[in-house]
Amino acid sequence: MYYKKYGKTGIKVSAIGMGCMRFEEKDILNKKYDNCIELILYAHEKGINYFDTAPFYCHDQSESIVGKALSQVPRNSFYITSKTNLATLKHDPTESGFRKRLEMSLSRLKVDYIDFYYLWCMLDEKMLKENCDILIPLFEKVKKEGLIRHFVLSSHMEGDTLSEIIDSNIFDGILLGYNPLNYKYRKQGIEAAYKAGLGVSIMNPLGGGLIPRNPKYFSNFSEKSENVAQGVLRSLASHEEISLVLNGFSTKEHVDDAVKAVEELREKPMQEVQKQYEKLSSIKNKLCTGCGYCNYCPKGIDIPKYMDAYNEKILGSSIIGRLRKHWRISARDAGKCIKCRKCENLCTQHLPITERLEEIANIIK
Ligand code: SF4
Ligand code: SF4
Repeated sequence: MYYKKYGKTGIKVSAIGMGCMRFEEKDILNKKYDNCIELILYAHEKGINYFDTAPFYCHDQSESIVGKALSQVPRNSFYITSKTNLATLKHDPTESGFRKRLEMSLSRLKVDYIDFYYLWCMLDEKMLKENCDILIPLFEKVKKEGLIRHFVLSSHMEGDTLSEIIDSNIFDGILLGYNPLNYKYRKQGIEAAYKAGLGVSIMNPLGGGLIPRNPKYFSNFSEKSENVAQGVLRSLASHEEISLVLNGFSTKEHVDDAVKAVEELREKPMQEVQKQYEKLSSIKNKLCTGCGYCNYCPKGIDIPKYMDAYNEKILGSSIIGRLRKHWRISARDAGKCIKCRKCENLCTQHLPITERLEEIANIIK
């Protein structure tokens, strides 16, 4: 395993971190947690030392599963995360509500402290300010008590809106969605965080599975016998500015592929790596990556599913087939859109969602 510096913390993290939210759904639903525990221990054995979890992942079972697995290995052989924000504390956004959430995470994870505690999923400046005003003093308090070690910001905001918070010295690290499809919206934030000495972790490296599902568009990433997903993971991990790439695994083969991808990693400046991304056809700018950050529709439209179906059109297949056979939702319901554009303001790919929904609704007219 290749290890990288995590900002100014003095910590070295594995270039690939395990996102603990992609266990086999059937194992979670059938409470076959032993398979998930085995997978975590396998990843640990292969050198992965960063395990990312949160309340609510995997029907709220992820933290407990991670705790059962990692309590079997020495505490100093891994770094563990959990997350919070005001929305997840909505039943009780007071200090006692915050503490209850943290204590529950500590107990489920079977640890005395959490290495990286995230201010989770900040979508815009207003939300960030509200959350920081209330929660950062509480983060500081529990850090003094030794319950958490480092603060991390997880954000879907763009670089220019992040610079103030990056320079504020509150956070030791940042987590951003980044991949060869959305890199241009993220590079400024990553560069700013790196320059300020923050650890940078990235999520959604494979565009919600879109990259491995369409290997022919990404074939220039894979070398020798590796697959496209491995090529993309290696490329992302090779950024000097990125400390680790979070990837979810469902099988031991997924772990093996990711570990192999970074075996002989050569670090390069972001500008050099991104030259390869610029060579991808212009198709990449038009695709929905399934990140889900737009999914707050007042009319209840499941936007990522409709945009995923629209990807099929761009990639030369049928929108209706994808909606009916894969998602089992109706094209007609896309017509419920009232064009408030809330989703477009949140879209990480800057897609014309309302236009696409209209086109989908019109297919069956
Ligand atoms: S623009 Fe349409 S799809 Fe987007 S949030 Fe508003 S109603 Fe929903
Ligand atoms: S429409 Fe945009 S924000 Fe929504 S899932 Fe797709 S890429 Fe993400």
